[in-house]
Order: sequence, then C-alpha cells, then structure tokens
Amino acid sequence: MSLIPKEIVDQVLNQADITEVVGDFVSLKKKGQNMWACCPFHHEKSPSFSVSPAKGIYKCFGCGKAGNSVQFIMDVEGTSFPEAIKYLAKKYSIDIPEEQHDPEYAREQSERDSLFIVSDFAAKHFQQRLTSHEQGSIGQSYLKQRGLSGNTIRKFELGYSLDEWTDLTDTALKAGYQQKYLEATGLTIVREDNKKYDRFRGRVMFPIHNVSGRVVGFGARTLKSNDKKSPKYLNSPESDIYHKSNVLYGLFQAKQAMRMQDMCYMVEGYLDVLSLNQGGIENVVASSGTSLTEGQIKLISRYTQNITVLYDGDAAGIKASLRGIDLILELGLNVNVVTFPEGEDPDSYIHKVGDAAFKTYLKEHSQDFISFKTSLFAKESAGNPVRKAEAIKEVVASIAKIPDAIKRTVFFRSCSLIFDIDEQVLISEYNKMHLEGRQQQRPGNPEPNYAAPAPAPEPEKPASDADVLKRYEREVIRMMISYGTKAVDENQTVIQYMLEQLEDVELEIPIYVKLHNRILQQFQQGYVVKGEDLVNDPDEEIRSEVIELISNRYDLSHNWETHQIYVPNEEDLLMYGIERAILRLKRMKVQMLLKTEMEKLRLVTDPGEQDRQLNYILNLKAFENQLGEMLGIVVNK
Ligand SMILES: [Zn+2]
Repeated sequence: MSLIPKEIVDQVLNQADITEVVGDFVSLKKKGQNMWACCPFHHEKSPSFSVSPAKGIYKCFGCGKAGNSVQFIMDVEGTSFPEAIKYLAKKYSIDIPEEQHDPEYAREQSERDSLFIVSDFAAKHFQQRLTSHEQGSIGQSYLKQRGLSGNTIRKFELGYSLDEWTDLTDTALKAGYQQKYLEATGLTIVREDNKKYDRFRGRVMFPIHNVSGRVVGFGARTLKSNDKKSPKYLNSPESDIYHKSNVLYGLFQAKQAMRMQDMCYMVEGYLDVLSLNQGGIENVVASSGTSLTEGQIKLISRYTQNITVLYDGDAAGIKASLRGIDLILELGLNVNVVTFPEGEDPDSYIHKVGDAAFKTYLKEHSQDFISFKTSLFAKESAGNPVRKAEAIKEVVASIAKIPDAIKRTVFFRSCSLIFDIDEQVLISEYNKMHLEGRQQQRPGNPEPNYAAPAPAPEPEKPASDADVLKRYEREVIRMMISYGTKAVDENQTVIQYMLEQLEDVELEIPIYVKLHNRILQQFQQGYVVKGEDLVNDPDEEIRSEVIELISNRYDLSHNWETHQIYVPNEEDLLMYGIERAILRLKRMKVQMLLKTEMEKLRLVTDPGEQDRQLNYILNLKAFENQLGEMLGIVVNK
C-alpha cells in the first residue's frame, strides 16, 4: 500500500531539480557538464562528489554513493522513500492530499499530528517560561552554573516548567488544545477524581526530538533540592509519537556532523550532549539512561558505522554496561571506547580541561572496544587461571558477535597478544561457542563444525565463475535499459533484438532475473523500459541496481573529462557491443554447463550411458568453440 498517491510521486520527481536539492546541503561548483562538491557522505578535502543536471543524478567517486533527488534525501536525512517524497513535496510546494481511500489511516495520522502539535506547544511554553517568567531565573541560573551558553540553550530549545500544579495544563486548555492530547503525551496527569495536574513541575526541560526535528517528548531535571520524593530526572511516558527505544537525545542536532565526521560519540546524559556540542563536538548523542537498543543503533547506522562510547564511572559500572556494546558489534558497527579519570564524566571533564584539550584527550584515549575489554579482563584475572579462562570466554563472546570474518581474525590476533596466549586457544573457544550456538538454534541439524576466522583474502584471487557470470548478465541488462529504444534496422529495436537473442538463455543472478522479467513484461505490454524510468521504481533493489548500471556510463565520461582522452562513444559501437555482450554471456553459460556435465561423466559407470554423456559434452565443447570464434578468441580444438 503506497501512502502517497502515484501522481504526487511523479510530480515530485518531475519538479525536483537535482542541483537545487543537493545545493541545499553542499555548495556546488560547475566544471564541465557537471557540478562538483566535497562529498556530504564521506570526509574529503578535494571534491569527488558530482551532480549531473542532465541525468538528474549524483555520484561520489570517493565513496560510491549515487542516486537521484529522492535517493539523495533518503541518504542525507536517513529517511524512508515516502518521507523523502514528503520532504521534496514541501520544498516544491506540492500538496499531498490526505489519504482518501483509508480513513482509518488518515484518522491515525491526524491523531499523531495532534500529539506532535501539543508537544511543540509545550516546548515553546517551557522556553517562554525559562526566558520570560520571573520563576525562569531559577532555571537560568542552574543552566548558567552548568556552563551552558544562551546559544546552546536556544539550539536545544531548553525550557523550564514552573513549580505550580497546573501552569501548562491551564495555558494549553485556554489556548484551545484538547485535554486528551495533553494526557496522551503525558504532559497532563488526570487523576481518578478527574483532578488534572502537570507532570513536570519545577524542572529544567530538555525537549527530545525525533530525526526530523519534531518534539516527541521531554526529559526533565528537578531543581527542588529539598524534594526527596520525586526523582532527579523524569521523562515523558511512551506515547504514539515517543518510543524510547527508537529515539536518541541530540540526534537531530548531531546527524549532519555524524555523517561528515563519520563518527558518533555516545554519552549518557543530556548535559554531556550539551557541553560537548557547545565545545564544538557536534556528533554526539545520548541514549538517555536506557541501555542501548537495536532501534537506536540502527538510527545511528543511517549516518555512520563508527561509534565511540564515552564512559564515565568506575570499572564496575563499565562492566555492567559491556553487554549493550555487544549489540553494536552484532549489528556490524565499529565500536571504540574512551574512559575518563576517576570521578569525571564527559560534561565535567570538558569544563575542567577546556575544549581543545578535551578533543585531544578523545583522540589519544580512544581504544577499540575488544582491546579495551580484553585489557580490562586480563588485568583482573592476572595470576588466576580459573578467572583467566572465564575472562577469555567473555572476550571471545564479544568477538563472536562481529559478523565480519576478517575483523574477527584481527581481533583474535590482538587479543592473543594481550592475554599472552596462543591465538589457537581463542579460535577453538570460538568454534566451541559457535557450535553450541548453532545446535541451540537448530537441534539435531548437523551444521558444518567449522567456524575459524577466514584468512585474509588473497590479493589476486582469480574471479570465480559466479563473479564472471554476474558481470556478463549485468552487462546484458545494462545494454537493454540503456539502449532499448534504439533501432537495429528499420524493423527492429534493440530491446526486441536482445530479448529474442536471450530467449534460450536463463539468467541466474536474482536481481538481473528480476530486471529481465520487468523488461519483458513491459515489452509485452508495448513499452520499452528505460533506465531513467527504473530509477524511480518502487522496488528498492531495482532502484539501486539501476542507478549503478546507468552511472557506469557516467564513470566513463568522468574519466574522459579528467584525463582528456578520447573514448569512442559507446553508441557508435552499439551493435558491436550488444553482439559481444550476448555472446560472452552465452559462452560463459556453456562453459559452466560443461563443468557440471564433466563432473557427471566421472560418476557414470554404465558404458552406454558414458558414451552418450561424452557425446553431449563434445557437442557442448563445439558450441563453446563456435561462440569463442565469433568473439575472436583463438580456441584450441
Ligand atoms: Zn563520498
């Protein structure tokens, strides 16, 4: 079910100008046919990020990110396809009508909107109380004492809730907001006797934003030092717009910097986020008290794969939170760790040593998590063999979470050095653990009992059959979507010719099978699919593959531009290229078939069957030679 009508999507795609869309985020300079900038997705000093206004796409030659306007917004803002369409619709003042076919959805949407609206009202109310109410000075002096500037207070929209029972509730109701939404967001608490009062009273307010910057809830710190009954920090309860496990404090303000620095600093408290941000470290977020969830890690991974956890507290506190880090490893992200001197947290420490020294400290004390954990356990278990065995288990359990085999190998090595034991001990511990894990998952299912870390890849491994096949299938599909409408002769288009030629060839790589089917279907309905159309296909897999395929030509012209050399236009040699692409693919298929049939021959014992099989193979061999000759390959007969 598409939530945005197709006409709107088309309208957005038609109106969105790639240079305007990208230009909102980076400053583009014209050079030749294209516009260039430093890439917003990876850190670089000279521009390798290009935008082609003619093709409506962008491509980075440094990190490989590529796509159209919608993809750009999805990448840069970390949003879904519909969210990106909404963003662009707003930019180009295109109205998205309320969903008419699904009144239930529309109702839910407007309920959610009401929650957003009332939260926004509350945030503004608290801000106003902080800056303009006489009681606000209590909040202001607290924030000042914590070293926060007016700029930081405004940037994070901090506020103050008066130490009164119904200040917010009364103001909101008077302004026309409905009680049910105040209640649903937890801002107002309604007792059984229908008495209403504010949840947050006499507290500094920290609004919590979602990724797109809307207020979804609040964290609040009490300023009543004599109040022993209520907690120091109080949070909004979960609501339809606020799910703690999917929100990170500061993410909205940090996301741009996270992408640029390709790193996310993870801290514990609101004040850590604010102080670091004020000190020029903007790529910082807090999980605000809860232990890190999968949803939160996935949010971070939209912007970077690298997390550095800044720990305060003692060794015991750190050990308690180690499990949460395993989750980050499991999701394939890289984790580093920084600890602070006894009694310091990031907030106190940056105020103590100053911004510059703090940044240096982070650089110098950043350590990869596995080595950190290993050292921590190695120190503790020194001289105690039983504890050492336990410690090894602990560390191997973390390494086992890392999905990447090469990374695992590296960690086994460094870990064996720290523990001063043979790497093989760690690996067999890992194998044991891995095996147990598998058996638990699927009892009775004999899995291969091998899971040693893979050796480093050999530098010049010959391409496997599968790789070659993929390349050839890819080339055939690329030709179809790039030149389908061109004429072979008066009677035939390229697409017709190619589909005919490939009639007896079965593609194998799933994405190309999918694309081939799409092309064939459309052709049977009288359309020729073009790459430019598929760039907007609802299927994500098709979209990204096609972008890769059509930006290939783009690579070529980029080379040509930078090296000033002449590359014959592919279209000049079109028929030649198409013929060869088809022949190469066919020959590869025959070669692979030959291999399987040769294998079969070895297993055949019946003499008559042997003869037949041999004949079949000889015929295939002849066909292979024929195809080779057509390709101009010298063949040994
Ligand atoms: Zn890049």
